[in-house]
Amino acid sequence: MRGIAAAPGIAIGRVYVKLSALQIEKRYVLDTEAELQRLKTAIETAKIQLKELISATEERLGAKEAEIFNAHLILLDDPELIDSIQLKLFKNKVNAEWAVKETERELVKLFEEIADEYIRERIADINDVSARLLQNLTGTAAFDPKSLGEKVIITAKDIVPSEMAMLTKEHVLGILTEVGGATSHTAIVARVAGIPAIVGIKGLLEGIKDGALIILDGSTGEVFVEPDEGLIELYGERQRHEEQKLEELKQYIGKATVTLDGFTVELGCNIGAPKDLAAVLENDGEGIGLFRSEFLYMDRCSMPGEEEQLDAYRTVVEGMKNRTVIIRTLDIGGDKQLPYLDIPKEENPFLGLRAIRYCLKDKEIFKVQLRAILRASAFGRVRIMLPMISGIGELREARSIIEAAKLELDSQGLAYDKDIKLGIMIETPAAAIISDILAKEADFFSIGTNDLTQYTLAVDRMNESIAHLYNTYHPAVLRLIKLTIDNAHKHGKWVGMCGEAAQDERLIPILLAMGLDELSVSPPKVLSIRRLIAGLSKKQVERQMDKFLELADAEEVLSFIESI
Ligand code: PEP
Ligand code: MG
Repeated sequence: MRGIAAAPGIAIGRVYVKLSALQIEKRYVLDTEAELQRLKTAIETAKIQLKELISATEERLGAKEAEIFNAHLILLDDPELIDSIQLKLFKNKVNAEWAVKETERELVKLFEEIADEYIRERIADINDVSARLLQNLTGTAAFDPKSLGEKVIITAKDIVPSEMAMLTKEHVLGILTEVGGATSHTAIVARVAGIPAIVGIKGLLEGIKDGALIILDGSTGEVFVEPDEGLIELYGERQRHEEQKLEELKQYIGKATVTLDGFTVELGCNIGAPKDLAAVLENDGEGIGLFRSEFLYMDRCSMPGEEEQLDAYRTVVEGMKNRTVIIRTLDIGGDKQLPYLDIPKEENPFLGLRAIRYCLKDKEIFKVQLRAILRASAFGRVRIMLPMISGIGELREARSIIEAAKLELDSQGLAYDKDIKLGIMIETPAAAIISDILAKEADFFSIGTNDLTQYTLAVDRMNESIAHLYNTYHPAVLRLIKLTIDNAHKHGKWVGMCGEAAQDERLIPILLAMGLDELSVSPPKVLSIRRLIAGLSKKQVERQMDKFLELADAEEVLSFIESI
């Protein structure tokens, strides 16, 4: 079996087949009495489950550990929760699942606004009880990687980015999915976490059964089902060899990233959450070139407030000490949906109400985030970056909201960096083409090749059936990158790259010769890229750039790259 190599590394282990994420849809019902009965049965079942759980936990771990389940049991009799679910069901004539989900969302939102620690703890209880009710209503089991016991290879039709963000190397050996491309956010999160992954495997779920033993090679995209002893030994040997190579790379810790002929390039990291900070520090990332802040908004029932965001940003900023942290503002939409936002379903979500477009539509949500980022800037070196800019108007409007947020902070006496830099991502062809205009007003650029490739080539980055057309080596994409770098430098502006192309070792010599100031990559890639750059002569590649820019297609680009 073979798929798209998404995150490097070898995994040998047993498969755990994960069912699809629970999708709760709104349905109108005629027979509300029957729906109420379904709900009551789900509640009664939940009570029986909890009572069993309480006695089992008391026996195994003691009464104190069982308290949490007692709290859940009490909640199932709490009128605040149960009455409002029933009221919603009756008043709106909706299915019980939707009534549960909506009530959960409202209560969590209400509780989040209360600063009391005890009340906040109840949010987790509400989430747990709602999840149990939804499981009982839909007949599905919840997915909790920590409860798996042994380390497994998670296999699924799809894993959404918010679920992927919960997985860690401590609990998971590898990931296999049927859908997705190499720059889908699920693949990106796997790379940041250092979990070997293969996506877009056709016929995966028919070909692999729960509990099967497999070998997964995340660098080549190969999967071996029920391998024989010889193959296990061979891959076991390769695994040990990889570990040894990682050990050798440690000599690059604490060194600058410099070419053979003395050019320095910044080598930062992409992260999605404060938990990724450890990997950045361990691999000696020189900064955070992209903090995908939207992951803070996922896998929950309502928006994170200003204080909660501040906490997360501050943790990263302080952890990075004096190194720069580029926080990208909310890039929601596309394959990153927030169920609680109530954005109408779109035919083409990647071309829809995404990223800066959403933020400029809902300015209050945007302002809360900007205030949190600004306040975090008092604790270190922070820059703000706007995603998916396609025109100068968006940059101007965002800047004016930032200025308004600054005035608010001034009047409240709250500290922030008065010289904070505002940059933009160059990830639409429009932005690359007018990068000369944008460079006059943006403080810096970071090139997002994942989207730049998808939008330039009109190839959905998520769609495995056209994955062969998704290729950053297409001369159209490479020329836009070159144009962007040249325009930034003409105006004296810094230009980095945080798309996945920045960690493509074959492309890096060209990117350096084009003059890129920074590469931002997943933490596990830092040291091998530093070593690669140490062996490169920038001037030598520069001499070939004229020829390079004349190449006709991705195949020619590839053979050119391989010849230098
Ligand atoms: C990009 O598009 O290249 C990028 C870095 O942003 P994201 O992958 O989060 O869309
Ligand atoms: Mg993008």
